[in-house]
Amino acid sequence: MAFTPKVVVPVPLPASTRWFICRENEVLLKKDAVGVEQLPSGPSFDAVEPQMVGELDGVPCVSVRFPDQEPTPDGFEFIGLRALWARLDEQLFAIAGRANQLAHFASTHRFCGRCGAAMKPDGVERAFRCGACGLVNYPRIAPAIITLVRKGDTALLANSGRFPIPFFSTLAGFSEVGESLEETLVREVFEETGVHAGNVRYFGSQPWPFPNSLMIAFTAQWERGDIVVDGKEIKEARFFRADELPRIPPKLSIARRLIDAWVREVTGQDAPGP
Ligand SMILES: [Zn+2]
Repeated sequence: MAFTPKVVVPVPLPASTRWFICRENEVLLKKDAVGVEQLPSGPSFDAVEPQMVGELDGVPCVSVRFPDQEPTPDGFEFIGLRALWARLDEQLFAIAGRANQLAHFASTHRFCGRCGAAMKPDGVERAFRCGACGLVNYPRIAPAIITLVRKGDTALLANSGRFPIPFFSTLAGFSEVGESLEETLVREVFEETGVHAGNVRYFGSQPWPFPNSLMIAFTAQWERGDIVVDGKEIKEARFFRADELPRIPPKLSIARRLIDAWVREVTGQDAPGP
């Protein structure tokens, strides 16, 4: 199926419209349905103000923010974005991520930050515009680096201690104002592990809609320094050999793609595990 991003909501919306109804990193799905059929369709959600996400094989996909206090409609359930991966295919998951970001954007830009008047969708650009002073706000995307730092035949992985089942992953962190991505990487690796990294090479990127990040992945090389962790943001960090890997992130993430690419280069095989 082909997805084309679009900005303008068709009037009227056809009955085939797929509704991505979002509530704080959750999306509303029909119970007892499979695939795309899990997404609400039809005119019953027409009362709310949708934002256009795009067209999937010509069918409009729209995003709306579900009111926080309202009960979940009968026959539906809210599913967390991370769990959606198992319920929708990769393409629908990506559209749900876009829809969630747009719903978050709408809910945090209802009023102008300059004059306080109401903001409205621009109608042409993917933006909200102030009806009184004309201020335009675009959806905020927060860039974050993620990196696999290599040292000889080992790679630096860290356990943040944030998850109930501990696992080790690549290092990551948000870009600060005025920083290049390379500078972010060097700073974050040093802050989190005490290690100086260099030879930064672009690897790939992945939207991370929880709710509005863009992960930009790099490989890097250890240059100097022993591992020292602060015990707060990072609980433990180590250089691991490919044949002694701890529990690592699931395949959904670009962190895992970084690890798999390294393991494949070193051993000729993918890392074990889902
Ligand atoms: Zn204004």
